[in-house]
Amino acid sequence: MLVTESKKKIFKAFFFLIFLLYIISLKEEIISNPSFSKYKLFSNIIVVTLLIILLILDSLIILQKLRRKESELQYWDMFFWLSWVFLSILFFTTIEFKNFNFLPIFNVFFAVTFAFFPMKIALFFFFLTFVVEYLYFCVFPWQRDYVNYFFFVAMISIFSLFGYILKKERKEKSIYETKLTEIKEGAKAFFGSDDENLDYLKSEKRIEHLQSTYGYFEERVLRILQQVKELMEPYTVAFFKIKDDGKYYKILEAISESDYLRYNDDIPLDEGVVGWIFKHEKSLNFSSVKGGRRALNYYDQDLPVSSFLGVPVIWRNNVVGVLCVDSLQDNAFNPDSENIIKLAVLQIQETLENVQLLQQTKQQYKEFSALYEGSKKMMMSITLDENLNTFLDIINQITHNDAAIIAIIEETQESKLIIKTYRGIADDISGKTVDDNSLMKWVLEHKQYLDLRHFSSKQKIKPLLSQNIKIPDLQRVIIFPLMFEESILGAFLLGYKNEGPDDYEKRVIEILSNQASVCISNAFLFEKVKNMATTDGLTGVFNHRHFQEKFTEILLRAERYNEKFSLILIDIDFFKKVNDTYGHQVGDVVLKRVAQILKTVARKVDIVARYGGEEFAIICVNDDKKNASKLAERLRKEIESTTILYEGGKLNVTASLGVASYPEDGKDKISIIEMADRALYRAKHEGRNRVVLA
Ligand code: GH3
Ligand code: MG
Ligand code: MG
Repeated sequence: MLVTESKKKIFKAFFFLIFLLYIISLKEEIISNPSFSKYKLFSNIIVVTLLIILLILDSLIILQKLRRKESELQYWDMFFWLSWVFLSILFFTTIEFKNFNFLPIFNVFFAVTFAFFPMKIALFFFFLTFVVEYLYFCVFPWQRDYVNYFFFVAMISIFSLFGYILKKERKEKSIYETKLTEIKEGAKAFFGSDDENLDYLKSEKRIEHLQSTYGYFEERVLRILQQVKELMEPYTVAFFKIKDDGKYYKILEAISESDYLRYNDDIPLDEGVVGWIFKHEKSLNFSSVKGGRRALNYYDQDLPVSSFLGVPVIWRNNVVGVLCVDSLQDNAFNPDSENIIKLAVLQIQETLENVQLLQQTKQQYKEFSALYEGSKKMMMSITLDENLNTFLDIINQITHNDAAIIAIIEETQESKLIIKTYRGIADDISGKTVDDNSLMKWVLEHKQYLDLRHFSSKQKIKPLLSQNIKIPDLQRVIIFPLMFEESILGAFLLGYKNEGPDDYEKRVIEILSNQASVCISNAFLFEKVKNMATTDGLTGVFNHRHFQEKFTEILLRAERYNEKFSLILIDIDFFKKVNDTYGHQVGDVVLKRVAQILKTVARKVDIVARYGGEEFAIICVNDDKKNASKLAERLRKEIESTTILYEGGKLNVTASLGVASYPEDGKDKISIIEMADRALYRAKHEGRNRVVLA
């Protein structure tokens, strides 16, 4: 035998009646014979046990349904659950345990029933109580006491009224609360927060932002509903929206004469006339609605609604909502009404379009601001290092990556591609050279980006950077070339252990890479201009002007901190002869080579400068005369022993050097230089190729 829902209901109703009759008969028994027989006691225990089991089982069913939220609670579920509660209380009030009166529990029961359960059920139990009480009177006429009955009725009515007021207040409060939060959230999404940060370039942020603007839309819809209300005077005008999961719909906005609209409920799509419109994408016009609350399930009460008109709102090929009106009169809606509703639907569609545009504009503005912020940050860093680091910081804020590497072409190192900055690599790879047969080099040769989506599984024919540069296991690798006006500056690699950025984020990274290229190019230019001002074009050592500046600076420092320093002046011997014999160009080669020797032999902190035509000067910071003369001697030997190669031959030169020191040879710039010059003159006089101390 199949146990269907309706059979279960019949069983339960049957039980209910039996229990009710039993309890009434129990009262009779107690009155006629106050002491229980053993048999009676046993049957009482069975009845109470059964009631409690039924109560527990139905509680479990209700809890399950509430948790799954798959369907709304049925009236029947609540009805039977309350029946068991009602009967239990009735049972205990009947037997009056040891003079303990259970009647107050009844009152509490009614307050709760009216406050938390649907009106219909509450009223049923309300009347049932009076009927049962009245039945007692009929069965035991000698117990009749109308004063008592009157107080009983008054008491229960007051408690019920109290529950009813509580229910109404609760409903209004929850409506206002949800409205308030919706308005607040709508406003927040619409106006946004003031800080324009780089987060707005993240895809997730973008989607969130696009989805969340409803405040403006709801406001517009409410205004459209107000117009419909004024024009057609329906009982209810409501706009339903479909939920994101596509399984439920709910009231977005409504204006109604009724208090029973289900504002906060999610109604399954396969229920009611509105659900039908959502599913079939067709309008419905009923002149006399039958099927009552089941059809018009946006009310939680049976209402004498007769006419109904609903139209789907279709936007970009999807049903996004249903606009409907209903009325208590038959045949309330004529073709004119249909036109009004269709016009309202058009307005809603237009609003949706506007909202979309508005969102896009706002999003674009935010993105623009974020890009601007990013560019500004990069622009503010002047040196190349600063520039590259800022760039990587910004990229990291937009997409989290597992490896980031920037390599730059170094013109001073035969145009090699050298790693400058990196993140996420365990070894120190800065300064390492990228191989010519690497993927990064490929990107530079083809001047286009490379996006490898399944990098780890791909056969690695070419190394990413070089055989000797270890890279963590990556799933996705993107390499962008860094170019500025057709000239290649370097390349930028991003590695991900997951699938990495989507197309939108990749586009943002590309834009920022282009911006970075401009900044890198600027940084190069800046370096160049800075060098031009301080270095000698032919030899690459500091120029005379910079030598003078540095001299002043070092002298001031030495005075303040009581330090020593020395000056070496170097003049190539018989340089005129070199020029005359081999030509001016070979003379330049010699100058370059000598400058190179000076640079390599001197310490990094020493200032090597071209002092005049074929004269050089070295300021030895913190060196006394003894140390400086040792250096001078090393320089002399190195120059003497170096064979200078030029196109078509080789030659050797010597140089004479003069050394003077602060403070013993002079306390100011002019006297120190003069002392060094005099020493140099003496070196020339004494036969050249030698070091003379002042
Ligand atoms: P001394 O041993 O006495 O120093 O003899 P010197 O021939 O080196 O004499 P002096 O120092 O007077 O020579 C300076 C010469 O250096 C004059 C000029 O032809 C040459 N000269 C100066 N500047 C340059 C330059 O930029 N390139 C070349 N090739 N020659 C230069
Ligand atoms: Mg000279
Ligand atoms: Mg000379």
